[in-house]
Amino acid sequence: MDDMFRFADELGPDKIIHLTEPSLGLRAILVVDNVAAGPSIGGARMAPDVGVEECFRLARAMTFKNAAAGLRHGGGKAVIVGDPAMPPEEKERVIRAFARAVGDIEDYIIGPDMGTDERCMAWTWDEIGRSVGLPREIGGIPLDEIGATGFGLSIAAEVAQDFCAVTLEGAHVAVQGFGSVGRHAARFLAQKGAVLVAASDSKGCVVDPSGLDVPALAALKAAGKSVVDYESGTKGAREAIVDVPCDIWIPAARPDVITMQNVERLNTLLVLQGANIPVTHDAERALVERGVLVVPDFIANAGGVICAAVEYAGGTETGALQIIEEKLRRNTRSVLESAQHEGIAPREAALRLAGERVRRAMTYRRKF
Ligand code: NAD
Repeated sequence: MDDMFRFADELGPDKIIHLTEPSLGLRAILVVDNVAAGPSIGGARMAPDVGVEECFRLARAMTFKNAAAGLRHGGGKAVIVGDPAMPPEEKERVIRAFARAVGDIEDYIIGPDMGTDERCMAWTWDEIGRSVGLPREIGGIPLDEIGATGFGLSIAAEVAQDFCAVTLEGAHVAVQGFGSVGRHAARFLAQKGAVLVAASDSKGCVVDPSGLDVPALAALKAAGKSVVDYESGTKGAREAIVDVPCDIWIPAARPDVITMQNVERLNTLLVLQGANIPVTHDAERALVERGVLVVPDFIANAGGVICAAVEYAGGTETGALQIIEEKLRRNTRSVLESAQHEGIAPREAALRLAGERVRRAMTYRRKF
């Protein structure tokens, strides 16, 4: 018999809900994992091949990310089955149907994720008045435009200098995935004296040990071109970014891009995880054993959700950046110090920090 409660443990999930509305083309799953700290915030992901297991894993990751960031929010996630590139009218119909379906589930606040964007968040706001990542015109703080996550990564890098042999001034940086997260991380790190020596996107990779021009690369991407259209440097396949010797390597594209098959090729001192779950567990362990400092995803890339939480609470863009800086600085230091003192991997220290916070929050809730 199928084990209906296979995901259940002492933290959650609080609920798993199937949402279907055949006449409107809606097939979705919502997992509200843990709401001890407050209503859950998590993205709604649209992709053709999403399922309940992925949704649960992402919801749990949000529980830990929000707890580690000390937000007044628990973790949740939704997945909507569909091609994100479907015709706009159809997409609006599906997203609006999804918003209405979660309308009564007040402990879930919808955020953007892969396949959904600020326009989708505006539709959900229009339906139920409960979403984050809204366009500026209706009071949102456009987190990808301001580079909330990339900014947070640059703060994590600043702290990491005290725990490895990297000095930001002159540090060589390679960025896999020159999108919202990657290009802003490169921009903020360049402001701190680092040099971008390699960048990749889905089309390929460009490398120049003497330095790439970050604004010029960003302008290429904004014009719909690829980093391989950059006027100088050595061009290669997108996998070539793994081999580039550097001080800081930033995955900012897809999950599981570093595995036991390619981890030996990484030639860096610090891995700052911009993407979610970019390195498999065994590969991450191999890196740590080799003495590479790894700042785990749910610590390093929390800038986006912190920004979303500030927006939800009615804060400003300037306030959001200040809070991201304060939280990223404190949490990165706390995790790296624990890891160093106890001789454990940063991820283990981070999971402990987040787990303790969730459990403590749970003790404050009514039990009867
Ligand atoms: P994005 O779509 O803006 O950018 C992704 C970039 O990666 C694109 O330039 C794309 O061409 C490139 N890419 C895709 N596949 C690639 C591959 N195999 N090799 C190299 N490049 C590849 O996405 P984003 O918002 O920057 O998000 C990037 C990652 O960070 C995702 O995993 C996302 O879940 C995670 N993340 C994003 C935020 C945020 O604030 N946007 C916050 C936390 C985590």
